Amino acid sequence: MAMSRIKEIVVIGGGVIGASIAYQLAKRGRSVALVERGDLAFGASGACDQDIILQSKNPGLHLQLALESANIYETLEPELQQPIEYKKTGGMIIIETPEEMEVMRGFVKGQRETGLMVEILDREEAGKLQRGLAGHIVGATYSPQDAHVNPIKLTLAFAAAAVKRGTELLLHTEVTGIKQKGGIVKGVKTTSGHIDCEIIINATGAWAPFVGHMIGLEIPIWPRRGQIVVTEEVPPYVMGDILSARYIVAKYNPDMIKDCEDPGIKMGVGLSLSQTKKGNIFIGATREFVGYNSHVTREGLKEILKYTTRLMPGLKDINMIRSFAGLRPYTPDGLPIIGPVKGLEGFFIAAGHEGDGIALSPVTGRIVADLITEGKAFMDVSALTIERFKKQ
Ligand SMILES: Cc1cc2nc3c(=O)[nH]c(=O)nc-3n(C[C@H](O)[C@H](O)[C@H](O)COP(=O)(O)OP(=O)(O)OC[C@H]3O[C@@H](n4cnc5c(N)ncnc54)[C@H](O)[C@@H]3O)c2cc1C
Repeated sequence: MAMSRIKEIVVIGGGVIGASIAYQLAKRGRSVALVERGDLAFGASGACDQDIILQSKNPGLHLQLALESANIYETLEPELQQPIEYKKTGGMIIIETPEEMEVMRGFVKGQRETGLMVEILDREEAGKLQRGLAGHIVGATYSPQDAHVNPIKLTLAFAAAAVKRGTELLLHTEVTGIKQKGGIVKGVKTTSGHIDCEIIINATGAWAPFVGHMIGLEIPIWPRRGQIVVTEEVPPYVMGDILSARYIVAKYNPDMIKDCEDPGIKMGVGLSLSQTKKGNIFIGATREFVGYNSHVTREGLKEILKYTTRLMPGLKDINMIRSFAGLRPYTPDGLPIIGPVKGLEGFFIAAGHEGDGIALSPVTGRIVADLITEGKAFMDVSALTIERFKKQ
């Protein structure tokens, strides 16, 4: 039977972002309900890669967030007291052409200035780190700071640690409405009854706009599908996180590829390669705007495999066993939306992490908990509020 609850804070969305926020708030003794319409990791956090990759982040605030998150990751596994398969592996971005090399030189310069350890490798040096590279590869960037984590185990571990500290976890419970009075949050309506609360955090990833509509707010987040191929288990093959420079172009410049005729480029296919603890290789991914369709397509998988084996022909000898797709929460400027919403006291957004939510989940949890418990975050995140999208 539906019942009424009273909590100080309701976190909507049991993905990695909502779970991380719930954990940080519970750690500070706050009364929290974490509300998820399916199971934990039901959205993108259960249908993604495992990379904590710093090299793909734009120099400046984006990379600063990732560096702060990486610091938290260093001690997160013992802190959560659950295995999350965290490992610092290092990573590479493979460069195919001299033109890409020029772009990456500029990217790396900015990243070094922001504090990342990253360097450019020539063909021979790159080949020593990763076998099986195609002959035409001109080089790579390399950072020893990139790492891996199991995103599902991470989400479950955040949630379990929150529950251990008193958070109430409501699964198979959908938030259907927001209660407010005089511009102040009063609670949420859910499929399992009402919850009276003072603070609501919208951490629903690609679905954040639907929760926004409940208060008449347009949130500029769109689902961006990513398809991934999974191979059979093989002995260690992939050195760490591997991306291609084309991934960076597809990620930050969707307009540049929009009118291109090549089907792979049109689907935003860029290399993203990593190997799980058990030995399966994840080969991704597409970056497509196809609404909330999270199916894999024959064309998508074909283009991923065609592109990947062009860069790493050695992969042709390994069998694919399955595939999946997830919906990244895309924002137009590539940065998440984090912070309070003007006009509705007590309402916060923490969504729109696109392809970076696993990497940025620890720092997002800390920032949101800081904003709520201390009124300001440990780093300046005023540029991340939704206000930045309001027309001048
Ligand atoms: C193919 C692919 C590869 C990726 N690889 C990486 C990577 O290597 N590294 C990285 O850092 N990131 C990666 N990402 C991005 C990462 O997966 C996302 O940024 C992250 O999972 C977003 O987490 P989230 O909690 O914001 O959203 P989600 O995990 O989507 O969680 C949102 C949750 O909200 C719930 N929800 C929605 N509406 C309601 C409602 N009304 N009531 C209750 N619950 C609701 C949903 O059911 C869902 O569980 C990848 C993504 C994809 C798709």
